[in-house]
Amino acid sequence: MSEEKVIVANKGLVRADFAFWVGQYMDRFYDALENKRFIGNKCPECGKIFVPPRKTCGKCNKTIPLDKNWVNLPETGTLLNYTVTYYKVNERTTRKVKKPQIIGMIQIDGSNTGIVYRLLNVDPDDVKVGMKVKVVWEEKTKGDPSDIKGFTKL
Ligand SMILES: [Zn+2]
Repeated sequence: MSEEKVIVANKGLVRADFAFWVGQYMDRFYDALENKRFIGNKCPECGKIFVPPRKTCGKCNKTIPLDKNWVNLPETGTLLNYTVTYYKVNERTTRKVKKPQIIGMIQIDGSNTGIVYRLLNVDPDDVKVGMKVKVVWEEKTKGDPSDIKGFTKL
């Protein structure tokens, strides 16, 4: 970690280093993504499985121990919901796109939560809530959410 500095600027460009800590639970999750695997963690009380993992169950407020309750999950899931958009989600300069993108909420099989990703190689007319999907990994992973390129129809 870099030492603390106070940066005062009146004009011009400021450069600063950041140490970003994702937390121990997400750290494990990102390690799994880097190895092209899905993991979740299970609440010891109600048995709900979270993807991404979390420290405290939102339903029963129980702490999920870091050293236990990890579950290996498959690369497949179910489409819970979706939207079709002509705008890029995270790029504001060239926002409008010619081909519509489908953003879906996917429940990884065996889990009880949803994650949001693009649906790839799917025609907007063919999308159906409840359809089975499979993850498409980036060729080179680096241990962050972008390791998942999106999901495609199974
Ligand atoms: Zn619970």
